[in-house]
Formats: sequence, C-alpha cells, structure tokens
Amino acid sequence: MFDLLPRTDHCFINGVWGPSENGDVLASLNPSTGETLCDFARGGASDIDRAVSTARTAFDGDWGKYTAAERGRLLARIGQLVIENVDHLARMEALDVGKPLTQARADAVALARYMEFYGGAADKLHGETIPYLDGYTVYTLREPHGVTGHIIPWNYPMQIIGRSIGAALATGNACVLKPAEEACLTALAFAELAHQAGLPPGALNVVPGLGEEAGAALSVHQGIDHISFTGSVAVGKLIQKAAADHVVPVTLELGGKSPQVVFDDADLDAALPFLVNAGIQNAGQTCSASSRILVQASRYDEVVSAMAKRYGALRTGPALDDLEVGPLVSATQKSLVERFLSQTDGLDIAATGSIVENAPKGGAYVAPTLFAGCTPDHVLAQDEIFGPVQVVIPIEDEADAIQIANGTDYGLVASCWTKDGARQMRMAKALRAGQVFLNNYGAGGGVELPFGGRGLSGHGREKGFEAMYGFTVVKTVAALHG
Ligand code: NAP
Ligand code: MG
Repeated sequence: MFDLLPRTDHCFINGVWGPSENGDVLASLNPSTGETLCDFARGGASDIDRAVSTARTAFDGDWGKYTAAERGRLLARIGQLVIENVDHLARMEALDVGKPLTQARADAVALARYMEFYGGAADKLHGETIPYLDGYTVYTLREPHGVTGHIIPWNYPMQIIGRSIGAALATGNACVLKPAEEACLTALAFAELAHQAGLPPGALNVVPGLGEEAGAALSVHQGIDHISFTGSVAVGKLIQKAAADHVVPVTLELGGKSPQVVFDDADLDAALPFLVNAGIQNAGQTCSASSRILVQASRYDEVVSAMAKRYGALRTGPALDDLEVGPLVSATQKSLVERFLSQTDGLDIAATGSIVENAPKGGAYVAPTLFAGCTPDHVLAQDEIFGPVQVVIPIEDEADAIQIANGTDYGLVASCWTKDGARQMRMAKALRAGQVFLNNYGAGGGVELPFGGRGLSGHGREKGFEAMYGFTVVKTVAALHG
C-alpha cells in the first residue's frame, strides 16, 4: 500500500530514515473505516533538535553552496518524481485523510506543479540597484533566512507542503517539517521522493508527531530562523508567541469564513457549481471554503432552490469510492461539526445530501447540509465549521453585501458574481480578503497566485513569487567608491 515509503514509523533526518529517539509510535487511522492504517513515529523535542541541527549543517554546508539554478533543477526533478507517483500519492492521501480519490489526485498534481513553479522561479528572484548619493553604488541581496520550520495541518498536506517547502527550498533555506498527527504519510513520501531526486542530506527533515510535543518543540527552538504555520487560530497564536520569544518572522494561515456574493444580475448557471463546490470540496475542510453565500433578495429563492437541488444529489462515502464527498478526517472533527449542527435555531434546512448505505459504521461521515434564511450574526455564519455545511444569507444591496461579507473576524477569500463591471471593481476594492474572485471561486487559487489572510485568517503570503519574498530577507549593500 505504501510502496513509496521505506518506513512509516520513522523520522526522516539528515537524509536517513530512523526511529524517534524514544522509539514511540502513534497510529494513523483511515477515516473512511476508523481502522488503523499503520504506525508512524512519535517524534519529540530531541528529534526536532537533531533535525534543526542537521538543517543548520546543510545550510552552512553542501545545500548552502547550491546555486539558484541548481536548486531549481532539483525541484523540477522532485516534481517529475511526484508526477510519476501521482497514483500512489493520491491513494495514500485518500486512505489517510479520507479525501475522495479524484480530489486527492488533484492535490498530488498540485504538489508537482508547486515543484515545477518554484523550480522555474528559483533563479528568477533577484535584488535591486538603488540610485543614491553621488559616489555610491547601492544594491540589495535577497538571502534565505537559514533554517525554516514548517508546521502543517491535515486538510491539504500535499498542497501545503508544495507551497511552503517548495518556496523555502527554492530560496535556499533548509527545512524542518512537522506534519499533522492525522495525516503525515504523504509528507513522509514526499521526503523519500526528494531524497531519491538527490536533495542533499539535511536540506529537508520530516519529524512526525504530536503538535504539543514535536510541533511545540519546533516553534520554540532557538535554531529556527522562520516559522510557517497553517492551522487553527488558537495554535497560530501560540506559534506567534513562541516566535516572539526568539524574534523570528512567522507566516500564519489560519482559515476563514469566506463569502460568495450573488448579485441580481449574476449568471446563475455559471455560478452554481462554484457556489456548491467551494463549500463541499474536501468535505468542507478547506481553509478557503466558501461557507457563506450572500444573495440579493430578487434572486434569493432561485439560488436556494438551485443549490438545494445540487445538495440533494450529493453522495458521501468512503474515499476510495470517489464520490462527491468523503468522510471528515477523524471522529473528533465529526463531533466538532455535529456540535455546530446542533446550534441551528432559527435556520431552515434547505437540503441535505446522503451518506451511502455501504459507508462503514466506523467512518467519520457527515451528510452535507445547506441552511437558508441565515442572519449574518448567527454562529453558523460567524464561526469556521470545517465541515460540509453552508449557509445562505439574504442581502439587500451592494452596501449590505460589503458590510456582511466583511462582517466576520476572518478575511481569507471572497467572491462576487455580477455582470456589472463597475460593481466588480468596487467590490474587489471593498472586500477584506487576501484573494478576491470575480465571477469564479478558486478555493485557494492556483500555485502562481499569492494567498493569505487578513484579520484572524493570519498574515504573510504564500504561493507565487510573494512566498519567495517571505522566505528571504533583504540585505542592502552600499558601496562608497567616490
Ligand atoms: P491545529 O491544531 O492548529 O493543527 C495544525 C498543526 O499544528 C498540526 O501539525 C498540529 O499538530 C500542530 N500543533 C498543534 N498544537 C500545537 C502546538 N501547541 N505547538 C505547535 N504545533 C501545534 O489544527 P487542527 O487540529 O488540525 O484543526 C483544528 C481547526 O483548525 C480546524 O477545525 C480548522 O478550524 C482549523 N484548520 C485550519 C486549516 C487551514 O488551512 N487554515 C487547516 C486545518 C485546520 P497535531 O496534528 O499533531 O495536533
Ligand atoms: Mg489518518
């Protein structure tokens, strides 16, 4: 099943697979069945310490000597190996995370795309020359931070590895990655593929384990020069505090409550697939899921009934059955979502999807649910649910749309459906979000598009060239030569 991996119960440090120092393991569960898939290493503080010190040695040594073009070629080679192993990776992710196979495959392809993009971009990042006083030549250098720590969640392991590790390696950093407890297998497989592609020992180290053990040890480690974190707001705050103690920069990507606004002149046929898919993709466990649909009064009934029809046809089942919706990642996540589903006072259930009959009893299944008649301040319209749940909120006009769309603590992605070009421009300016989509909705967008949050959605930008700016520091060189 895991042909790509020499071991699942080992850490990958200094280019070598080995057990965690305490020899402990944790079980990786298959959320489609509730059964154990395999064991993986329970890395701890001493493993993180070894990983950070080997990353430092790589940065100061072999890896640090690679030219930008050489780093680029290496990333392209990793991307090629990812593509050759897309089916293996997709199956592994489907089993580990519960993601329907087609969606898991798309993640594996995206991982390869990140390697291609950052491989190609590695030697295209440069500093500037700055006109200054007579007799001076001034220029800037963009240098890697050094050792970067990466703490990632379980919802899109391959995509988040791609955007975070891809940009960090392209710019010459040496990385220590702590994947999520619920989903670490593709992170380990990625390390093996990078190793096979020839990445020098220590440039990428992967220490699986628990957040409060390996994750916390990484975030407080004095040998880390930058931390990149994707996950919950609560842990994001801990990471930022830990980083403050040793004054290192952090990138935080913390989820959202992203709206899609449907105006009276919207092309509903074009909008419909985006309205629903953006809510149920990966069973709604997407930081950039669109969980709020704001609809202008004259189209409200039409939108609710068209969305309800689609919801009625959604089937939820085991990841390998490759239906529209898979299980949630864990029983814990299922109970978190069910807690939200018990707080629906004042809402109408417009439609629910179904759970297929052969879905194993031990799986973490929740039927997709669409609520209508929601008020902007309802808990389901304010809190990130991270499950296949969307609410439809009626709005009056543009001013109302802006106020409600911007009326949560988050600001990750927003979208607006209208044929009126001037309104598109006004909305794009007014929406408080890291990405705004006009007449489409790209959950997270492409690899080339800068992505990140405002407010509780976090700060810093990933993807595209912006991520490479984040993984480098500018050094100004001023020469006085007369
Ligand atoms: P989380 O607890 O924030 O976990 C994210 C990562 O941080 C995991 O690798 C986790 O390790 C690690 N971690 C946990 N506690 C830590 C600590 N004290 N110090 C350092 N690292 C720590 O998120 P989650 O439990 O996976 O999901 C909970 C909620 O977060 C979701 O319901 C959702 O609201 C949000 N979320 C957002 C995104 C996003 O893309 N923005 C992704 C996933 C989740 P372990 O896995 O080992 O605990
Ligand atoms: Mg799992």
